[in-house]
Amino acid sequence: MNVSTKVDVAFQRCINPQCATTYGVDEVRIACGKCGSLLDVVYDWDRATPPKSLSDFEELWSRRYDPLALSGVWRFHSLMPFAQAEQIVTVGEGQTLLQHSLAVAKYVGLTSGDLHLQYEGLNPSGSFKDNGMTAAFTHARSIGAKRAACASTGNTSASLAMYASVTQLMKAIIFIGSGKISYGKLSQALDYGALTVQIAGDFDDAMQRVVQVTEKLGIYLVNSVNPFRLEGQKSVMFRVLEGLRWEVPDWIVVPGGNLGNSSAFGKAFMELKELGLIDRVPRLAVINASGANTLYELYEKRGLRWNEGSPQADIIDPYYAELDDQQKRASTIASAIEINRPVNLTKCLRALDFCNGVVREVTDQQILDAKAQVGAGGFGCEPASGASVAGAKLLREEGIIGADERVVCILTGHVLKDPDATVAYHAGDREKFDTVLGSRGVEKASFANHAVAVENDLDEIVRTIEQNS
Ligand SMILES: *Cc1c(COP(=O)(O)O)cnc(C)c1O
Ligand SMILES: [Zn+2]
Repeated sequence: MNVSTKVDVAFQRCINPQCATTYGVDEVRIACGKCGSLLDVVYDWDRATPPKSLSDFEELWSRRYDPLALSGVWRFHSLMPFAQAEQIVTVGEGQTLLQHSLAVAKYVGLTSGDLHLQYEGLNPSGSFKDNGMTAAFTHARSIGAKRAACASTGNTSASLAMYASVTQLMKAIIFIGSGKISYGKLSQALDYGALTVQIAGDFDDAMQRVVQVTEKLGIYLVNSVNPFRLEGQKSVMFRVLEGLRWEVPDWIVVPGGNLGNSSAFGKAFMELKELGLIDRVPRLAVINASGANTLYELYEKRGLRWNEGSPQADIIDPYYAELDDQQKRASTIASAIEINRPVNLTKCLRALDFCNGVVREVTDQQILDAKAQVGAGGFGCEPASGASVAGAKLLREEGIIGADERVVCILTGHVLKDPDATVAYHAGDREKFDTVLGSRGVEKASFANHAVAVENDLDEIVRTIEQNS
């Protein structure tokens, strides 16, 4: 299979079907110039060379010496042919895996045992963001950008900073809110040498500012309003299918923050279906934290829908006005999804529409308990990722997910991203628990695994081990 494709098969298009204005791939925009809607990267598939069958990709497994075949993103280049092979920036992202976990299946209540965890924390910067950053960075390089910026709850900035430091192609500038970033993520951005601008405000504030600043200074913006980023994130779904030997699961369950992932997953399935590469589409469940539940409120409580490209503004606008009136700020231990104004809201509605989706909210208590179960039954994850397992459990309890269905939960970030939350949960130190978790309404650590204190004495140590194992 030919992995290099011509650039001119791709263009950008406004997602509003009433507008559908198109732009070239070499234009840098974060919204439609006519109507202000988000943009998609779209392809003229007749002129591109998509695979005939998804199993065609297996041919690339034997070509690990080729960086584009090795990359878990770019081996699917023919399904995202917006860049020429020579322009692609890759650091070997996307070497992630799908783990079948009976332990987590039991926790979720799937008698089929058919639960799979997609470990995106195994990416080089420790989160799924690398899937998107490699694509955005490729686009930034192709248009000659010298500086790239993002606002971030942490993982986007870690990823951007990493691509900038490894490739030395651009200077990374990251905007973070004050006090709302986990140590693992902040330490990455600093260590990779990014210019880190800490704003007195939260993520939603930082997001507004970065848009203004990048416009003013002509800096390339890599937040998920960037449609090229979402192209790379489609590959998470391609790898899930790959892990299931191209069988489509019944459910994809994903945490929702800025809603870039859910949007990208929906687009992946829309295109796979259009190309005849899958014959059915999985259902999509997007899980909010209850302290940052805009999508849940709008979709499940107020009935907001994609509505053929015209989501009801009379549902959205009053909701945001209420948030402003009440000065309501997003608040959850799952800092990666601590977002009240998701920039990809309309794209996500389209994905929910196409994938017969549902949205749920879960508490920080449910998130941390699910996270502990992921750790005890696998490789662990950060709090936001635990939301997908907590959400699957909730949907199973409600009977929406059937006991015999096949479910894939996306684990978006690595367990080491947020050691504070993990240690506070397990340590059994009341003060630490209260400061880090109690303030979030978390009452107990049902699956805590305390360290056992013992005298520095051989007999004592032996006795303790015998008693506890
Ligand atoms: C960014 C992020 C999310 C949220 O993803 P969106 O695409 O913004 O909805 C969830 N989990 C982790 C670990 C993240 O880094
Ligand atoms: Zn438009």
